[in-house]
Amino acid sequence: MTSSAGTTIVIGAGIIGTAIAHDLQKRGRRVVLVDRDAPGKGASFGNMASIAVTEFMPASRPSVWRQIPGWMLDPEGPVRIRPSYMPRLVPWFLRFIAASRPSKLRALEAQGAALCARSLNDTLELLGDVGLKDQISDEGCLSLYTDEAEFKADRDHIEILERFGFPHEVIGRQAIKALEPELSDKIGLAVLFPQNRSMKDPYKLVLALADRFTALGGRIERGEVTGFVRGEGIRGVVLKDGRQLAADEVVICAGAFSARLAAMLDEPIPLETERGYHTQIMAPGILMKHSIIWPARAFMVTPTAGGIRVGGTVEMAGLDAAPDYRRSKVTVKRAKEALPNLECRECTEWMGHRPALPDTVPILSASARTRGLFYATGHGHLGLTYAATTARLMGDLITGMKPPVDLTPYRINRF
Ligand SMILES: Cc1cc2nc3c(=O)[nH]c(=O)nc-3n(C[C@H](O)[C@H](O)[C@H](O)COP(=O)(O)OP(=O)(O)OC[C@H]3O[C@@H](n4cnc5c(N)ncnc54)[C@H](O)[C@@H]3O)c2cc1C
Repeated sequence: MTSSAGTTIVIGAGIIGTAIAHDLQKRGRRVVLVDRDAPGKGASFGNMASIAVTEFMPASRPSVWRQIPGWMLDPEGPVRIRPSYMPRLVPWFLRFIAASRPSKLRALEAQGAALCARSLNDTLELLGDVGLKDQISDEGCLSLYTDEAEFKADRDHIEILERFGFPHEVIGRQAIKALEPELSDKIGLAVLFPQNRSMKDPYKLVLALADRFTALGGRIERGEVTGFVRGEGIRGVVLKDGRQLAADEVVICAGAFSARLAAMLDEPIPLETERGYHTQIMAPGILMKHSIIWPARAFMVTPTAGGIRVGGTVEMAGLDAAPDYRRSKVTVKRAKEALPNLECRECTEWMGHRPALPDTVPILSASARTRGLFYATGHGHLGLTYAATTARLMGDLITGMKPPVDLTPYRINRF
């Protein structure tokens, strides 16, 4: 085993791992960032690029899960569960239902809001650190509704935002057209979320963090972690090629794959993958400034540096099944309802694994079993949104400082 006293190993060079590694290195730690792939090739590569500070609502709230049976019967519905995967999903789904009790929902909303309240400022600060301040849009996100009835169905979302004081503005058809002339006349109402700004390219942020991390003296090691060395506490990691890397601290941020690593450490976590798809349209034939979401159609469109990105939907099929790109085609079809002039020329399709916990809030925690071991995972639909805040909070936790947010609700042994 290589001798590396005082070293912290961060496993996973997605947006969460690179942000944490960068934060710790900045604080003077000796950090090794380990990934089986090049940085940013997981879920962080192709997400919808939104700093989605108003989207922290638990997925287990009744207005969402009551629709799941209907969605399941619709092959083009926003949630698909592959039949062969259903038995594997039962324990996760039971926990999801348990997270829908009203008192539990109130607590989960507060936990999401506590992270989102910091998120935009923390992100702007991080962008400043890595020289990417010009890579975030000035415009926010428009949430679309055909009419009052559709808006009412999403009313609980807006009420939660009102309760926590997140700014938003309800606008009518004329104002919508003034902001985004390409939107269809079908859209009668929208809510503008001014803080939900978007990155021109979220992958570029991971690369910039990795570059800054190495410039500060951090080391990136390519290799798949297949085991751990443990003594009284964590001692290091074992790589697939047989190498062992010594460490005093290990941070697991392997996205949706974190559950496999946690299981090796006898600390199982109910983490699933909510697979999501995007279509990147390099020649869309239209120009947009704002990102848009249409809750009733469950898709999102974001203007990015490389054209327009259309994405969304949830597919539960595990980590190993091949992508089903019919999901991306359905999303583009839906997007054309909102943007009738959208053309799908020069397109690429992509699938990524959202690391999803049944109660929607991430794990930001020291291990409950092994000294020196930490977890930052389960960021679900909001990994980009939460990354800068996660790095700040985990940096405090790992270096023994008091984090500005009480991390008790995000502990690993809450399930
Ligand atoms: C379609 C889609 C749209 C999304 N839109 C948004 C959005 O608009 N806003 C937002 O905030 N979030 C969004 N998300 C969610 C966000 O992308 C994720 O929450 C985030 O990328 C998770 O980051 P991560 O670093 O935890 O995981 P990842 O980016 O998946 O990184 C994990 C890394 O761990 C590595 N790894 C895994 N196992 C091992 C091992 N054994 N050894 C070594 N390395 C290992 C992988 O190679 C990978 O590089 C979206 C996700 C999807 C799929």
